[in-house]
Amino acid sequence: MKKYSAFAIAKEALTYHKGWGRAWAKPAPKSHYDVIIVGAGGHGLATAYYLGRNFGITNVAIIEKGWLGGGNTGRNTTIIRSNYLQDPSAAIYEKARSLYETLSQDLNYNIMFSPRGVIMLAQTHHEVRGYKRTAHANALQGVTTEWIEPKRVKELVPIINLHGPRYPVLGGLWQARGGTARHDAVAWGYARACSDMGMDIIQQTEVTAVKRSGGKVTGVSTTQGDISCNKLGVVVAGHSGVLADMAGFRLPIESVPLQALVSEPIKPCMDVVVMANTVHGYMSQSDKGEMVIGGGTDSHNAYTQRGSFHHVEETVRALCETFPMISRLKMLRQWGGIVDVTGDRSPILSKTPVEGMFINCGWGTGGFKAIPGSGWGMAELIAKGHSPLTDQFGLDRFREGRFIDESVAAGVAH
Ligand SMILES: Cc1cc2nc3c(=O)[nH]c(=O)nc-3n(C[C@H](O)[C@H](O)[C@H](O)COP(=O)(O)OP(=O)(O)OC[C@H]3O[C@@H](n4cnc5c(N)ncnc54)[C@H](O)[C@@H]3O)c2cc1C
Repeated sequence: MKKYSAFAIAKEALTYHKGWGRAWAKPAPKSHYDVIIVGAGGHGLATAYYLGRNFGITNVAIIEKGWLGGGNTGRNTTIIRSNYLQDPSAAIYEKARSLYETLSQDLNYNIMFSPRGVIMLAQTHHEVRGYKRTAHANALQGVTTEWIEPKRVKELVPIINLHGPRYPVLGGLWQARGGTARHDAVAWGYARACSDMGMDIIQQTEVTAVKRSGGKVTGVSTTQGDISCNKLGVVVAGHSGVLADMAGFRLPIESVPLQALVSEPIKPCMDVVVMANTVHGYMSQSDKGEMVIGGGTDSHNAYTQRGSFHHVEETVRALCETFPMISRLKMLRQWGGIVDVTGDRSPILSKTPVEGMFINCGWGTGGFKAIPGSGWGMAELIAKGHSPLTDQFGLDRFREGRFIDESVAAGVAH
């Protein structure tokens, strides 16, 4: 892999940029791998990367039915934070957030991590109590967050309207080292590093069946033929139920569309991320100047990657209350993804009823922020059979009633 550096750019500039190689290879599938990962989204690629980096397992294929990063990883609003309530969640999200701090250097790829700060607005007394509780829990977990009063919110976000027509701003939960990163770059950076370790990223290839023998996984059937493996990691977000069905078990998960939109670009007006859960909308400003806006999930199950129109209207109406200055902005683009939501709003990183098959899913509306931590833990789970980061997120928690309830922290699309 050619190292990206200022020196390399200067050298290439002198030679008409003819020396850059492909960022990742385009291999034909081999007949056997030690590990196959299904799904080249952020979580699948990060899992493969840490399998190689932390455990030296590099005979790995990552099989993707579309193009890498083309699922939810390339469709989200890129919010990164770790201010969750329950200890297992805070641990994995904070692991991810801390890995994001140095991910550009680790991958030698600029993922544009921008720790600009995230505010979750409290607009009802219930939310005030909830966020103060989370701030106390975060203090015990070693996650740096603080409760801030309306005056401080206004200092951080001068364009905000503290006295909206329906709900006043009563304060907020502030995480100063939360922020955003470039979502495609996260996928591309991991992909380049995986390819450099000799792993095969096989795009435009759909997994159509999970092959088993005596209760143990033996490989997959794909649109390019059968491929055998010792271990299988399924990391397909909104299609997790489909893959579980291929392997003969069911998941406690629902797939629903979630959508986002961006405005035309404007001059810099807001340099933090704001989430308004009560009126339901969240917004940040991209480096290009677009206002990046996220809304809610559809209330029905679907695989449409679009989302219903009324959600756009409701989200924009809510944000116009909170930020009246955006009311005359034109919207530029709208899109959707298929997110995988569990009953306790926490992910599943688990062994499955099929020996040798592991599943990583259920990140729902908020898994971009978790990619490095999830990959780190999932790689350990696949390599060693368990991981302190994933132990609490097993499938058995649904049978045992041991839920990790994050419906407050994750109750809004983010
Ligand atoms: C509009 C929107 C906004 C969001 N905003 C945020 C946010 O601000 N912050 C945040 O933290 N999270 C956010 N999320 C959630 C986040 O995007 C996801 O949790 C995360 O990207 C999931 O990553 P993944 O790698 O698990 O899935 P994906 O990126 O969806 O990757 C799964 C891959 O599996 C592939 N696949 C599926 N079936 C097969 C098959 N049979 N064979 C081969 N490949 C297959 C798919 O093509 C896909 O590329 C948002 C999501 C959406 C849709």
